[in-house]
Amino acid sequence: MLNTITHSEEAIALEEQYGAHNYHPLPVVLSKGEGVYVWDVEGKKYFDFLSAYSAINQGHCHPKLVEAITNQAKTLALTSRAFYNDKLGKCEKYMSEYFGYQKVLMMNSGAEANETAIKLARKWGYTKKGIPTNEAIIVAVERNFHGRTTGIISASTDSDSRNNFGPFMPGYQIIPYDDVAALEQALQNPNVCGFWVEPIQGEAGVYMPADGYLKTAETLCKKYNVLLMMDEVQTGIGRTGKLLASNHENVRPDLLILGKALSGGMYPVSAVLADDEIMLVLKPGEHGSTFGGNPIAAAVAMAALAIIKEENLIENARLMGEIFRSRMQQLKEKSHHVTLVRGKGLLNAIVIKPTNDGRTAWDVCVALKNNGLLAKPTHGDIIRFAPPLIITEAQIHACCDIIEKTILEF
Ligand code: PLP
Repeated sequence: MLNTITHSEEAIALEEQYGAHNYHPLPVVLSKGEGVYVWDVEGKKYFDFLSAYSAINQGHCHPKLVEAITNQAKTLALTSRAFYNDKLGKCEKYMSEYFGYQKVLMMNSGAEANETAIKLARKWGYTKKGIPTNEAIIVAVERNFHGRTTGIISASTDSDSRNNFGPFMPGYQIIPYDDVAALEQALQNPNVCGFWVEPIQGEAGVYMPADGYLKTAETLCKKYNVLLMMDEVQTGIGRTGKLLASNHENVRPDLLILGKALSGGMYPVSAVLADDEIMLVLKPGEHGSTFGGNPIAAAVAMAALAIIKEENLIENARLMGEIFRSRMQQLKEKSHHVTLVRGKGLLNAIVIKPTNDGRTAWDVCVALKNNGLLAKPTHGDIIRFAPPLIITEAQIHACCDIIEKTILEF
């Protein structure tokens, strides 16, 4: 069909001409990945410091994931949920026990899992809390990112996400992030069914709430009989040095929303976990997806979650994250272009002050790329660093050396 692409310009030109322009990628064309590394079509090797926005926690092309997906693809790929399959129930049991919930509902993308959580919270609100029909409110926070569907962007406060995509879905109240007083006031409205929040705001640029915020949110949700809907699509599955970022404060959300690394990046798999009282409000025919819970997804998710434990990736994320942040703090002392370092585990960000001649975090990322490390700026001045959790101490130091050299030359 098409010849193998060996020049970046060719691939970029094809995307430019035939693809929608809904992303603005760095000018690098990747054709291979293994562990913490990716290679471009010219054969240059890079550290992947974005991990597909935290989907590749287990590293690129993990052999056990390759085995799981190929074996299952050769056996049975998709039946739809019109019939049972021999993998879904096993995966549901595995995931429920793994995360400590009674039930799981599998979908594909992170956005779909969030949509699922919205529907569960609303239906629970009407059938269990007694909210009058069509009056349910979900409290969301400023700067949130939960995906790109019209239902989800209706709660967004980001103009790029929203502009010209209205009219929007009603039923949200937006409050500031990390503001306990605003939360308590909002939850007093008896029509509130859910509080929808990321434990760390990843897409926004790795914003972390004050210690205790999530625990207080959990307490307030219980007090006002509101479901705590925790979007751990980016922060979950070891990324922050705990299985879930909620675990840092011993918080157990009523609705746990997962995606990305649930499949180690091998396949789109997402899920919502909840106990029976909430999950069973959904009846047959009220929600679903052709691909949700298909045999490949189930096989890959079980393998991906097993790897996290077998390879001790949670503890590794914690330790490597500490090394990374201490190296970045040292860099901040040396360079006035780094104004802030923040993060938990291996979800970190630095804030870059532009140069007098107008070079920004984008230019830093282009220079990082030239020096063999891939990362992407977000919101103009923030660079998020999220390598695969399998990264070793020697590798993390090598990466910090690249970042340090690049920024000191900036
Ligand atoms: N929720 C969070 C916290 C995310 O970071 C993302 C993606 O970055 C999503 C939801 C959406 O996931 P997806 O792109 O798979 O729809």
